[in-house]
Amino acid sequence: MTTGPGEFFDLIRYGHARTRGDLQAVTGLSRMTVAQRVDALLSASLIREAGSDRPSGGRRPTRLEFNTEHSLVVAATIDTTHSRVALTDLAGLMLAEESIDLAVVDGPEKVLHGITEAIHRLLAQTDTAVSGVSGIGISVPGPVDPRSSRPSQPPIMPGWDAYPIAEYLHDAVPVSVPVLVENDANAMAIGEHSVGFKDCPSLALVKISTGIGTGIVINGRVYQGIDGGAGDIGHVRLGDHPDVICQCGARGCLAAVASGRAIAQKLTALGIKASSGRDVGDLLAQGNVEALRLTHEAGRRIGEVMATLVCLINPGVLLIGGPLASSSLLSGVRETLYPMSLPRATRNLDVRLATTGDMAGITGLTRLVVDKVFSSSAVNARLNEPDLAPAR
Ligand SMILES: [Zn+2]
Repeated sequence: MTTGPGEFFDLIRYGHARTRGDLQAVTGLSRMTVAQRVDALLSASLIREAGSDRPSGGRRPTRLEFNTEHSLVVAATIDTTHSRVALTDLAGLMLAEESIDLAVVDGPEKVLHGITEAIHRLLAQTDTAVSGVSGIGISVPGPVDPRSSRPSQPPIMPGWDAYPIAEYLHDAVPVSVPVLVENDANAMAIGEHSVGFKDCPSLALVKISTGIGTGIVINGRVYQGIDGGAGDIGHVRLGDHPDVICQCGARGCLAAVASGRAIAQKLTALGIKASSGRDVGDLLAQGNVEALRLTHEAGRRIGEVMATLVCLINPGVLLIGGPLASSSLLSGVRETLYPMSLPRATRNLDVRLATTGDMAGITGLTRLVVDKVFSSSAVNARLNEPDLAPAR
């Protein structure tokens, strides 16, 4: 095991070592080497001494912790009808945010221009220099190719296929920090995992919005699949709807039958105005009887497909998230999921509504950015380059 400052940083960040004595015990290194590593991390402001402002005296060892105020993260979630841009500290604490009413169908230039302007407004509002940002995370409602980090044939994002989102933001903000692009359900799943389910080795989150997608977290990491298509269950074909044409061009997809868009179309046919998952969510909040009925029925169809996912990965937690997440949707999912799954696959399964609402995506993006920018290898590299020391 390499035990450079980066590995020390990991031990402190994840709470495996809280004092210099702990670090000595865990690594087996000498007191002097431990002191050198800790001093390097302290002078780079990557860690801080907790409680060091207390009057000295006594021999209580000083506690060390990750300095979550070292720098900031910009997190932006692009949804079908709107985007959200937030500035957070490294622990995911929201410092400022803004919602932008730009639809994903407006195309990448218009949406990313709006996001760039919002980033500058938030930085000005919090008196933060661009150099105080350590990374940018951005989520999109479609699959992302893990190799290129670009959208990969996204069915509900016309004009975004293979669009260089990271390059656009590097030029427009401008920043030299990493820009991570992730699928929205993946970002939400890791966000929920970070906040409430850290000890769960396998978690899935199904996001039901204008479309339907699933994020899968295994052993604390998002499972993207070879081409970024893992969890893209919205376009699983249901056998009994050959007449319904999906936005992806195929017939009978789950999203064409049970997504927010599908429900909005059914409501419109009944004379109730709705065009997006967000509109359906608003009607659910108002207790609209038809919206409740159709959402419950959609839940039943989603539960059928989730039964396969549950049998395949046997998760500990299955979360229902997105604007349609409601008790009527959840009860529909449960009605079909349990009878259609093997008892072994569900006996320890916790099926419930996502807990952090629309914060999950922002929290998840912050976590992904921090994991990348402050990985042990990145910290080791950073400490060999003194000019990369504290950004803020
Ligand atoms: Zn489809």
